[in-house]
Amino acid sequence: MIHIQNKTDCCGCHACAQICPRHCITMQPDAEGFLYPQIDETACIHCNLCEKVCPILQSPQEPKDKTPTAYAAINKDDDIRGQSSSGGVFRCWRNISWPRAAWCSAQPWQTISAVSGILR
Ligand code: SF4
Ligand code: SF4
Repeated sequence: MIHIQNKTDCCGCHACAQICPRHCITMQPDAEGFLYPQIDETACIHCNLCEKVCPILQSPQEPKDKTPTAYAAINKDDDIRGQSSSGGVFRCWRNISWPRAAWCSAQPWQTISAVSGILR
């Protein structure tokens, strides 16, 4: 059963209240209006589903595949980067021929190293 000792141990996601098969968890506002779970212990059947679903209590799972899920790039040109709200990478695409740019844009991110090889 969930027992919140410290408010930093709860992000107020409602997952525990949603999963409880006995509907004995209600989200109640504190003095500042933030919602925290309150449990009717008389209705609890100690199934521990609330603890299993809590993202704070459950540590993140290590990904099996160590391949990065995100890539970052910036344009090497300081002027272009200065005019861009991001890294100015789209200008690189624009400077290559359209069929090639379209092909590169359509590639899955997993093949970014192959695409980079083509652009070199
Ligand atoms: S242990 Fe089970 S029944 Fe008790 S509050 Fe958690 S989810 Fe509900
Ligand atoms: S599942 Fe955990 S973090 Fe989410 S509201 Fe319940 S106690 Fe808080």
